[in-house]
Amino acid sequence: MSDVTLRDSKSLSPADAEKDVTVQGWVQDVRNLGGISFLVLRDRFGTVQITAPKKKIAPEVMGVLTSVSRESVVKIKGAAKAAPQAKGGVEVIPSSIEVLSPAATPLPMGVIDKVNVEADTRFDHRFMDLRKPENRAVFEIKSITLNLIDQFLVSEGFTEVFTPKIVASGAEGGATLFKLGYFGQEAYLAQSPQLYKQMLMSTGLDRVFEIGPAFRAEPSDTVRHVSEFISFDGEMAFIDSMKDVLDLIERCTQYVIGGVADRAKPQLELLGKEVAVPGAPYPIIEYKDAVEMVAGEGMHIKLGDDLGTEGEKLLGDIMKAKGNEMYWIVEYPEEAKPFYIMEKDGTPYSYSFDLDYKGQEISSGGQREHRYDRLVARMHKKGLNPEAFKFYLDAFEYGMPPHGGWGIGVERLVQKMLDLPNIRETILFPRDRVRLVP
Ligand code: ATP
Ligand code: MG
Repeated sequence: MSDVTLRDSKSLSPADAEKDVTVQGWVQDVRNLGGISFLVLRDRFGTVQITAPKKKIAPEVMGVLTSVSRESVVKIKGAAKAAPQAKGGVEVIPSSIEVLSPAATPLPMGVIDKVNVEADTRFDHRFMDLRKPENRAVFEIKSITLNLIDQFLVSEGFTEVFTPKIVASGAEGGATLFKLGYFGQEAYLAQSPQLYKQMLMSTGLDRVFEIGPAFRAEPSDTVRHVSEFISFDGEMAFIDSMKDVLDLIERCTQYVIGGVADRAKPQLELLGKEVAVPGAPYPIIEYKDAVEMVAGEGMHIKLGDDLGTEGEKLLGDIMKAKGNEMYWIVEYPEEAKPFYIMEKDGTPYSYSFDLDYKGQEISSGGQREHRYDRLVARMHKKGLNPEAFKFYLDAFEYGMPPHGGWGIGVERLVQKMLDLPNIRETILFPRDRVRLVP
């Protein structure tokens, strides 16, 4: 009947009192207290209390309501009633209940139980784990984050592009390549859009960005590595120096984190988190100074070494004490950086940067080597065969502007923004060395 208004837990309010309403969702809980039964119905926004006084409810409705299993999907019609003691100040007195999909028992894991469930159990039954509103909130925040990134880059004149994920050569070193068969040829899953976004710099698409999956066969189990993640990449032509790229990313991360703090209030509340916009400008630390800083804190490290997880964390602590959650580490040794990074002539360093957030790298980038001969020379230096990269090098042989860019791990950004202990919390169905299903 059309005079029955469809309501969800967000829109149902005391103003609906005495109206006929329809609500639908999952049966979170049923309590039978002799003369009265309560069913807590959960939908995407929250819960609605269904109150069934035995005397007033038809026996067949009462029968279903008191026996329906937890987590079944039901549609309930009834009269809304003001109820100051109920959540939202309103309850529904049911006149009919339809079980749209019964849930089998026992459940593989609880939704409202307070007991700590093992991570493996949670990820094995992710559909059930995501029924917890606070777990779902992370993905709403991730979606808002991506939306904000899009908005910002479009406002800066960037064009969104999509580059192949099935590729013939890796850009980020052979160790983490996933090999696959490709019609009798050997192919790989793309580790990054690096080569393609650079090629686009020779076309007149001067500013591009891409948000898409990147694949890495990461050999180690850490809380910040997975084998499939979402990379937010950008590349800009006609830059004067690497500083142009730093400026852009700084403004972007300020906009995005500020936007999340503003737009994701209900989700942050569910998570019990506050998001603070990092102080800007972000301090710029030269790699060699960063090494000195962490060595000064007792870490065994020498110039040329990777900061590693320990060094990054230590630097994060030092910077936090100074009031900085986000900071740049620039001019890494050229030896430590891929072939496409521009060397800083006359030094062992390069025009490269990392952006670290609370003691963890979230982005790498730099100015690229756009000079054909220098690029080929760098490939030789890295033991790479330029023949294997001909498709890429061709774009540098016929007019390539100076350019630079970045890759930001979207999940690392969300993880750090929300202070989550493990990157997997920000991935619906994580992929790592031991997990391929679901
Ligand atoms: P790390 O040193 O932390 O392993 P990386 O330097 O190998 O990272 P880059 O090649 O610089 O990674 O990739 C750019 C960004 O992509 C990183 O700053 C990070 O945010 C993200 N990223 C890289 N590898 C992974 C991964 N395995 N899982 C999740 N995010 C990743
Ligand atoms: Mg990096």
